[in-house]
Amino acid sequence: MARKIQVINGGAVPAAMNSSQNPNPKSQAPLALILFGSPGSGKGTQSKLLAKALGIPQISTGDMLREHVRRGNAVGTKVEAKMKAGILVKDYVVNQLVEERLAQPDAANGFILDGYPRTRAQAEVLCGILSPRGVQAVVIHLVVDYNVIIARLTGRRQCPVCGTLYNVTSKPPKVPGVCDLEGAKLIVRDDDREEVIRERLDEYEKQTRPLIDFFRETGNRLYEIDASHDNPQAVFGKIEELIRKS
Ligand code: AMP
Repeated sequence: MARKIQVINGGAVPAAMNSSQNPNPKSQAPLALILFGSPGSGKGTQSKLLAKALGIPQISTGDMLREHVRRGNAVGTKVEAKMKAGILVKDYVVNQLVEERLAQPDAANGFILDGYPRTRAQAEVLCGILSPRGVQAVVIHLVVDYNVIIARLTGRRQCPVCGTLYNVTSKPPKVPGVCDLEGAKLIVRDDDREEVIRERLDEYEKQTRPLIDFFRETGNRLYEIDASHDNPQAVFGKIEELIRKS
């Protein structure tokens, strides 16, 4: 069951959605949804499902940074070593990426932030972007047991072409090691190696988890969902229901 921690404002959904898609037809304000949780909590999977259902973009700072690394450009060169080590990259780098991304037209009616903000400085910048737009974020905190997280991250595989995520035990591809959609050979992310996973979880505990207090202090609606054992569709159902009711 989804546990509501704190609810401050009325609902907010993308204006572009028609009433059959709109989970909350009462409101027309843009939806700024923050998917919050530790690495391996399912933010990426849920963001993709929500983006499809709500018709608003998923904005993943991890994906954006990986794309810069793949291109080998100035940003990519700057962040590559930190990402490989599981350390957060500098706030100004991600803040700039997010500011530019949120200025694009497809984000005008709402967006889903996946993996941002991760530090207090980032959360403050985000508030500075959202406040003038009259938008308040809805934060969904995905809570997952530590052991489940470790199993998920060590078993995770990704298609290098379409980004689809698999897990060797809980969501295997039809043919081992091959993407169902693209036929490409699945990869293990550099930062899904065990020693790096530990570093990433450490960064989360030190820098990111404390943001829960920040969200509370700043009056954002914050919901907590137990996402340890349900399958992704069931977790998605809980989030959808929350958005509809909020
Ligand atoms: P993710 O795919 O969200 O787990 O991100 C992968 C890596 O990208 C992280 O371990 C960080 O090195 C970097 N990263 C992604 N998002 C952020 C962020 N908001 N702030 C700082 N570093 C980030």
